[in-house]
Amino acid sequence: MVKAIIIGSGPAGLSAAYYGRLLDIKVELYESASFDENPLKPCGEAIPKFIFDYLPREMERDYILNYIKRAYFYFNGEMIREFKNMPLIDGYIIDKKKFLSNMAELAKSMGVKLIWSKFVHPNKVMDLMSEYDYVIDATGKGAFARRFLDYSNYKTIPVLQAYAKGNSVPEDTIVLWGVDKGYAWVFPRGDLYNIGVGGVYDNPNILRKIINEVLIHFNLKLVNDLRGASVSIGGPIKKLVYSNLRVIGEAAGMVMATTGEGIRFAVASGSIVFDDRYEERFWSEHGWKLRNSVKLLNLLLKIKNKTKLARIATDNDYFAFFEGLYSFSKILKIGFKYVFR
Ligand SMILES: Cc1cc2nc3c(=O)[nH]c(=O)nc-3n(C[C@H](O)[C@H](O)[C@H](O)COP(=O)(O)OP(=O)(O)OC[C@H]3O[C@@H](n4cnc5c(N)ncnc54)[C@H](O)[C@@H]3O)c2cc1C
Repeated sequence: MVKAIIIGSGPAGLSAAYYGRLLDIKVELYESASFDENPLKPCGEAIPKFIFDYLPREMERDYILNYIKRAYFYFNGEMIREFKNMPLIDGYIIDKKKFLSNMAELAKSMGVKLIWSKFVHPNKVMDLMSEYDYVIDATGKGAFARRFLDYSNYKTIPVLQAYAKGNSVPEDTIVLWGVDKGYAWVFPRGDLYNIGVGGVYDNPNILRKIINEVLIHFNLKLVNDLRGASVSIGGPIKKLVYSNLRVIGEAAGMVMATTGEGIRFAVASGSIVFDDRYEERFWSEHGWKLRNSVKLLNLLLKIKNKTKLARIATDNDYFAFFEGLYSFSKILKIGFKYVFR
């Protein structure tokens, strides 16, 4: 029987475990956190509806807390636009802990051997590669693949997240708060709000200042301390496979650089990781969008008067920005049309 070891039980590792079992692969999954701690990493907990194309169909959806159909977009503190009927905004705020525990229960019921509280040391990777037919790096950081694959474009930015109380944002509406080199969010989550901020800033105090402005603007009170983490903005690494080692999810930089959205791409990459054409499929189905979003971000960072761009871009442009649909030449055309004229 074909044997796989997966390291990391985030959305990527759990998705890979499920799809591996569908192919009758014997799967062992190791996670350094305990079941109760998982997930350790803070998250905005927003998912678009598109994710259901990749999630196991039989998974219970009791992790959904809010159905989102609208977004208020602010830029530098000014309300710029209300988005409605936009496919990406049509989504959910979830209880990520419940989401992962449902995935874990399903994987276990299919015969995955899931071992919690077990850190697998990256220096074991060669032994693992000779012992298993597949070694899947789903560590979120690329702890295993880093030794063999090119991580030169892997970049992260600091992010802060917390929960807050208040009542100024409707339960079906998210707030996206753009700033010069980053973004903040307010997502309604049951009787709380999930709030956070991230950006290309060296000084973490800038992030605190931005989130304080957001808290004051929406009259929100923190219910716990802000927790720090990092999120990828460099786009996917170029190669995802080395011999029988494969890398998925954020461990491969699979996050939309412009929005920080990574759960969908983690689950999607896990769903195809055992395909012989894994790398090719990833690039043709998702990778090109993620790469576009890095180019867009790099261009946006160079533009001085972003407020003007934010005001005159169309809803279609926003959708294409958030979803990585614009190629570099199209982005440049937009830059000339809106900003340099
Ligand atoms: C503050 C913040 C807000 C975010 N908000 C959103 C959002 O709203 N929507 C969205 O789609 N995305 C969001 N993201 C991104 C999203 O959380 C990640 O892209 C996604 O969780 C990646 O999933 P993953 O399975 O690849 O990695 P992870 O979720 O990072 O999981 C990796 C797992 O591997 C384990 N691990 C690591 N090393 C080892 C080891 N050596 N041995 C054993 N176990 C190991 C870790 O403990 C962890 O559980 C956010 C990220 C941050 C930081």
